[in-house]
Order: sequence, then C-alpha cells, then structure tokens
Amino acid sequence: MAAGVLPSESALQHARTSLLSKIPPNGHGDQATRHHLHNDLVPGLNKSSQSPNYYGFVTGGSTPIAAFADNLVTAHDQNVQVHLPHETAATNIEDAALRMLCDLVDLIPAEWPHRTFTTGATASNVIGLICGREYVVREAARRVGLFNSGSVAEHGLFEAMTAAEIDRVQIVTTVPHSSLRKAAALVGLGRNCFIDVGCDTASRSFDITELARALKTPRTASIIAVSCAEINTGLFATNGHDMRIIRKLADEYGAWIHVDAAFGLPARLLPRNVGYDALLEGVAGVELADSITGDAHKLLNVPYDCGFLFSKSLALAQHCFQNPNAAYLATAASQPTNASEPSIPSPLNIGIENSRRFRALPVYASLMAYGKIGYTEMLVRQISLARAIATYIEGHTTYELLPSDPSRTLEQRLESVYVIVLFRAKNHALGDGLVQRINGSKRIYVSGTQWDGKPAARFAVSNWQVDVERDIALIKEVMDDVARD
Ligand SMILES: *Cc1c(COP(=O)(O)O)cnc(C)c1O
Repeated sequence: MAAGVLPSESALQHARTSLLSKIPPNGHGDQATRHHLHNDLVPGLNKSSQSPNYYGFVTGGSTPIAAFADNLVTAHDQNVQVHLPHETAATNIEDAALRMLCDLVDLIPAEWPHRTFTTGATASNVIGLICGREYVVREAARRVGLFNSGSVAEHGLFEAMTAAEIDRVQIVTTVPHSSLRKAAALVGLGRNCFIDVGCDTASRSFDITELARALKTPRTASIIAVSCAEINTGLFATNGHDMRIIRKLADEYGAWIHVDAAFGLPARLLPRNVGYDALLEGVAGVELADSITGDAHKLLNVPYDCGFLFSKSLALAQHCFQNPNAAYLATAASQPTNASEPSIPSPLNIGIENSRRFRALPVYASLMAYGKIGYTEMLVRQISLARAIATYIEGHTTYELLPSDPSRTLEQRLESVYVIVLFRAKNHALGDGLVQRINGSKRIYVSGTQWDGKPAARFAVSNWQVDVERDIALIKEVMDDVARD
C-alpha cells in the first residue's frame, strides 16, 4: 500500500489551527518547538518530493546523498559570494560542481565561462535575459557606429536604446514557460515583448521563416528564446538543423539566443539508437546558444532551491552583474590561489545575489555518487514510466493521449514522449473533474492544465525513486477506478 501523496484534510486543518499567530513574549524553547514542528506542522506537508507517485509539475525529489549534503550546507552555513581561496574551499567546490554539470550534459566548460548556481530556472531566465538585453542593445549601438553608448547596465534601458536608435527589444519564441514572461517583466522588457513564431500547437516547434521575418523588424533588437522542452507536452521547440539556422540568423541580426532547458537539458545524456533519437534531436545544437537555463532541483533531484545558468561571455556577465565599488568585498575578490591557477570569478559579480547559499554541495555530492551512468539510468527509468503511462492512456477507452496526432502511429508518438504525458478524458462530464478525482485518491497526484481551451491533465515523472513496474501498476489501478466511477 503506497503511502499517501497528500496530507489528510484533518492533518492540514490541524497544522493550520496549531500555528502561532503572534510571536510569544517568552520563547517556548527548543524542545517544545521541535515537538510542535514534528507533531503539528510536518504532518500537514505534502510528499511532492518524498513520494515517487507525485506526478504534479516537474518537481524532482532529493537523492539521499543530496539531502545529506544539504544538511552539511546548513551546518557549515558558508556564504558563497566572494572567491576567498585562502579562507574557504567553497568557491572551488562550486566551480567543480559547475564543471561537472557541464560534463554531465556534454558541454565544454571552457566554452561556458559564465557559470553560476541560482535559486531556480526563473532566476536563471532573469540572468539569461539580462545578458541578452545587454548584448542586443550594444550590438544595435555598434551597428549605428557607437561603441560606448549601448550599455543598459551602465545607462539604463531608456538611454541605451535611444543611443542605439531602437524602439523595442523583443523576445522571439514559441511556447515560452510562464516564468520567462515574468523574467521579461522583471528586466524591463515587459510581458508583452513576446513575438510568437510557432508552427502549430501540436508540434510546438519554431517556424524558421516566421523567425527570420521577426528579426528583420526595423528599429528592434531581438532575443531568441528556445523552449527546451515545453512544460505541458514535454515537446522540444527545435532540432539540430533548426539550431544551426537560428545561430546564423542571430549572428546576422545581432540577436542573442537563450535556451530555457530547465528540465530538457538532461536529455543530452541519453544513448543513441535505442528509442531516444527524437529526444536527442530536441537537445541537439543547444551548444550553439549564448545562454542556457537549467534546473537542478528538477531532474537532478537535489533539494530546493537550486538552478543554474551557463553563458558564453564572462566579460559581459561581469559587466552586467558587477557589485561596484564595494571596497570591503573587493580586497578579497582579487586574491588568486596561485599564479598558475586561473582565478574563479566571485559569484556576486556574475549573478543576482550577493550573499548566497552553498547550493553547489548537494549537486557536487549527487553527481559524484551517481556519475554519468547513474543519472542516465535514472532518466531512462523516468522516460520508461512516462512511455508506459502514455501507452496505457492511448489504449484506454476513457482517456485520450494529447496532443492528438492521427498522422502518426502510437509507436512514433511514443518516441517523442520525454517525462511528461498530457491527456484528457474523452467524455466531457468526466473531463471537468478528472484531476480532482485522480488526486482525490491521495495515492497519486497529477496536475491540471488546459489544452485547446479544454481541461486536460498531466503526468510529470521526475523523481529519482521511479520503479517502472511498481509505479505503472499503481497508476493503472487508480486510473481504472476513476474511469469506472
Ligand atoms: C520549471 C521551469 C521553469 C521555472 O523554474 P523554477 O525552478 O520553478 O524557477 C522555467 N522554465 C521551464 C521550462 C521550467 O520547466
């Protein structure tokens, strides 16, 4: 009997009613507080990370070694903002973890000198857009003969764009993640700066002709954002051939390419010729981008919150994120370990935060414990479960696999199933309450979404504990029950 994925109503109710509403004048002390946390609050939390049967969103879990390392992070509470090679190895460990991450997904660390851990893919998208914004406005300025006026970081968007003789910075994309719109709002480009150049809803891919047309817009600079992969369907927006053309177009028009690969990037680990070639095509050419967003708290299965960003220009990053004229930080920032070792850039000068958590340690530990083969094996199990779910759904009289595509056989459709399975009930009456009924079992959890304006549901498989036979049996049991009701 699988443990419940969601807390009972009574546990939720108990947690809420037992919360303190005010700070107590006299503290209750550690012992009473621990008792309260354990007995009152923790039972009101869900098992989104602990249970392999939580399929809502792409949450990932936490490998035991990553959880262990995360406790060390708390115990040793390092502030990883300045490279202090004579005082702590923390920045060296962060650098090693980032290099191993590059290795994991077959990117060459030397080509991605701007590497940093973030709080998650949203923050990585913010960094990617800040670098992109800086680059495209400067590039526009250079194209009108100005070499020192186009810096947004220095002069602000308004002055820099005026100098560069542009009226607009647009993000050209298809099916962007919602967090990219939020990032666009944060960095002053606006949620409405998106130009959709998608082919059609079923394929979720780029229309290259439309892209080229958008890049030609007069007095407009462009950031090209590639969705790798899309959150509702798990489909990839590009292939290797597209990426080569997109790179050429970007160079021609002075555009920046940002790839949002929050959960898509690990697909680069998959072996060839054994059923994953369509996925490998989806992540082919990612190395041609200028910046890449990744999430570690998703498929890498380390605890929240941990994302990462790779970008090709360290100088550009240092220009955008420089924490200027802080004499008390600068002394330390320039200490080399020794002359023969390249210095590690201080994280505060290449990312958003100054004080930062030592997020690198759980990543370092989990990469060491599992290795490339361990992570590949984990991903293969996750994909196998997603494909087993898709096969079950398509074969069921009550459910329908999405996006529907009568032109392709089930086998062909399965080849593009990554870790997400989108579906709905064929019968409308069931459709509206489908997600509630499935989650009402408290044995598995799926998330609700919309497809073609109608309610749909989604399995996202992302936990390290996946066991294909055990989990598909439980899923079939719950889904058969829902269909019978
Ligand atoms: C999850 C996700 C994000 C946002 O990531 P957070 O880690 O929640 O900030 C961005 N892009 C894509 C494609 C995602 O799947």
